Amino acid sequence: MENNGRILALGAHPDDVEFMCAGTLILLKKAGYEITIVTMAPGDCGSVELSAEKISVIRKAEAAKAAEVIGARYFCLEERDLAMDYDTRTRRRVVSAVREVDPFVILTHPPVDYMVDHEVTSRLVRDACFCAGIPNFAGTGGEPRTAGIPYLFYFDPVDLIDHSGNRVAAEFVVDITKVFEAKNEMLKCHASQREWLLKHHGVDEYTESQKRWSSIRGADIGAEYGEGFRQYRGHAYPHDNVLLEMVQQ
Ligand SMILES: [Zn+2]
Repeated sequence: MENNGRILALGAHPDDVEFMCAGTLILLKKAGYEITIVTMAPGDCGSVELSAEKISVIRKAEAAKAAEVIGARYFCLEERDLAMDYDTRTRRRVVSAVREVDPFVILTHPPVDYMVDHEVTSRLVRDACFCAGIPNFAGTGGEPRTAGIPYLFYFDPVDLIDHSGNRVAAEFVVDITKVFEAKNEMLKCHASQREWLLKHHGVDEYTESQKRWSSIRGADIGAEYGEGFRQYRGHAYPHDNVLLEMVQQ
């Protein structure tokens, strides 16, 4: 799989990528890579006060602003929160996103996470890596890939825990200490979510949890802040750990 300089981070909702892998994206951007952030849904269930339509507009604008912080492109696949399915219609759309962005590295949710949207997205992305290069599998846009299956990496689950509440181990950790402030700046672009939690919890749980998870992973490698990943190494997917090499350049 040739390095074409393009990276895709695909999350279920606006802010997932900012929580789990934005530090790594910032390092990749600094190393000269072109970053695209895609969300499956616009975060339409992320408000108790605003309608789905109104909060969607706000949250897509927040996601675009966060992407802008690192000069990344952002777009939304317009599925809906809590209503995304692993079906052929949705698979064609995710395949098309992969075809259109044409990345050589993809970052997404792990197969086991706390809620179904994240797990469905993980499956859809793994599938899209495989199908994007199959010309007879119809998409809804983009040209079938000719470069082969991209590298696929899973970032950490929310709270870094599995279904039983046990901490999951990262296969490797990227040291994001130097760029943690910028990661935090990206997350703060999601003001609607931060303010809602602040009002609800009485503390800035939104940015505190980002700090907490990054600190735990940092401690794994003796650094202040880190982000954990696992590489998908199923049949025919590239196996060498190109991500760690790229951020250490
Ligand atoms: Zn999410």
